[in-house]
Amino acid sequence: MSAAGLTDVWDAPDDADDLDAAEDRDAAARAEAAGHTRGRRVLVIPDGLAERPGPLGTTLSSVKPMALNAVARRGAVRRVATTPEGLQPGSEVGLPTLLGWAPTGVVSRGRIDAAAHGLDEPRGAVVHRVDVRHDDGRPWPELAPSALTLLRGLDEALHVEHLSAHRFLVWGHRTPTLPRRLDLDDLGSAHGVAGTHDPDDLPRFQLWPDGIEPPPILDEDTVVVCAPRSTMAGVARLMGAATVHPAGATGRPGTSVAAKARAAVSLLRDGIHTVVVHVGSPDEAAHARDPQAKRLEMQKIDRDLIAPLAAVVLDLGATLAIVPDHGTDPRTGEHLADPVPGVLWGPGVRSSGPDRVTEEAVAQAPVVSSPWRMD
Ligand SMILES: [Zn+2]
Repeated sequence: MSAAGLTDVWDAPDDADDLDAAEDRDAAARAEAAGHTRGRRVLVIPDGLAERPGPLGTTLSSVKPMALNAVARRGAVRRVATTPEGLQPGSEVGLPTLLGWAPTGVVSRGRIDAAAHGLDEPRGAVVHRVDVRHDDGRPWPELAPSALTLLRGLDEALHVEHLSAHRFLVWGHRTPTLPRRLDLDDLGSAHGVAGTHDPDDLPRFQLWPDGIEPPPILDEDTVVVCAPRSTMAGVARLMGAATVHPAGATGRPGTSVAAKARAAVSLLRDGIHTVVVHVGSPDEAAHARDPQAKRLEMQKIDRDLIAPLAAVVLDLGATLAIVPDHGTDPRTGEHLADPVPGVLWGPGVRSSGPDRVTEEAVAQAPVVSSPWRMD
């Protein structure tokens, strides 16, 4: 910043008040992130795991997770509000909320993805994530080359980056007007993509709104174990936490949960204060409308992650919290904003609430706003 810029800030009382208010908010968020727990602690986030109770039951009520239930019997079981009032549910909202910063407006998925991929958008740029999808919302990664061609032809002042599969990042001086879906269909067909030219399934672009980004309220005493280039990685970096990406951690069904458990255990034993383990696969299975795959992922999380972590947490006298970032219905593939079932177990945490972590069991449980404050 130039000397003139500094003078502008310090000479303007309104700006100084705004800065004070922003610092107060950040200090409050840091205190919230610290919570009421003592000593080392670990937070497991099974992405999109929660559901809405119904006649078919939910993933949590149908798998009967032994390790999770054992933790529930000893800990405090509550509902956790991970989607602030008025916001759309999603990881860009739920993950920062669980890490101690509850957004007050639309969160920019594009800015989080840029951080996850190590990209630095220019100051003042408008940043959007753009996806290419089937008419019913399923991703359509086979159309990525056609989508890239069309997006790059929009406006030479716009920067277009292919992130992975069906995901793109577009930034520039304004919100882009996206290419027509008929043009995407035509180009995809010319490229020989199966399924194009079906009038009942025209491909479409999805534009994620730009917005605010999570503030740097954490430091390297918080280490987040997650898949590389994931939403969790982007949120962690923007909030100032360190990240660890074990080999085999992909965020998709089939991801190595055991590798994440081993990484988390060694971080806890090394004395890291807060370890966060994110598993993206339940959400991915639900978006693929595959309830069976979602159940298998939950069984794996219970056996390969929660069971070994619970043993180490007991050994170290640490605290364990298990809370999804939001719900995702495996029949519709849609996110849910309802408070999610969660559990906290550790020294000083009273055994209270239902003895299982299911949507049905917590229906009457109190709603809390932090994974570290379940009393
Ligand atoms: Zn999702």
